[in-house]
Amino acid sequence: MKISTVFTDRDGVLNVDKPDYLLRLEDVEIHEDVPAALARLTNAGIRVIVISNQAGIGKELISKRAAEAIFDEVIREAESGGGHIDAYYYCPHTWDDECNCRKPGIALFLRAAREHQFDIKGAVMIGDGFGDARAAEHLRIPFFLVGQGWGPVTKVKCDSSEVPYQQVKNFSEAADAILKLNEGSDT
Ligand SMILES: [Mg+2]
Ligand SMILES: [Zn+2]
Repeated sequence: MKISTVFTDRDGVLNVDKPDYLLRLEDVEIHEDVPAALARLTNAGIRVIVISNQAGIGKELISKRAAEAIFDEVIREAESGGGHIDAYYYCPHTWDDECNCRKPGIALFLRAAREHQFDIKGAVMIGDGFGDARAAEHLRIPFFLVGQGWGPVTKVKCDSSEVPYQQVKNFSEAADAILKLNEGSDT
């Protein structure tokens, strides 16, 4: 299977998650494995797109503008190893809004595929949350569950509800597994 695109969650995967919400620019702390791993994906011609739930916006804990400044900072730090993040999409709603863009909803994934013109079948997802796992399940794409952030809690939930995942330590290990999938494929 040739993988064209990696969807990745943000908090708990690219950067250290915070107990509540990541609300301040100075609290952005990139996981140290991320810059080099992102560069490996980019060098292999794989597109990387961030899909993130940011309910702090809907709860009015942070403005869209401030939230986007945090995305910019996470991306700037993630790209510091020479890799590239092609785009990010976020859901600003709370659970109560019953939108279809909040993961496990798949609206943002479909929008990304439309806007960047790729087939979802060639995508995979990396995340630490149960919403990430279930979104991947809905999309029928491989899911790489990192051991960081909500990872341990999500593992228990996936096991008890039979949501598929491949356990990895972090973004870097996921990237290596993805690159390996591509190695054996020539289409
Ligand atoms: Mg997360
Ligand atoms: Zn939403």
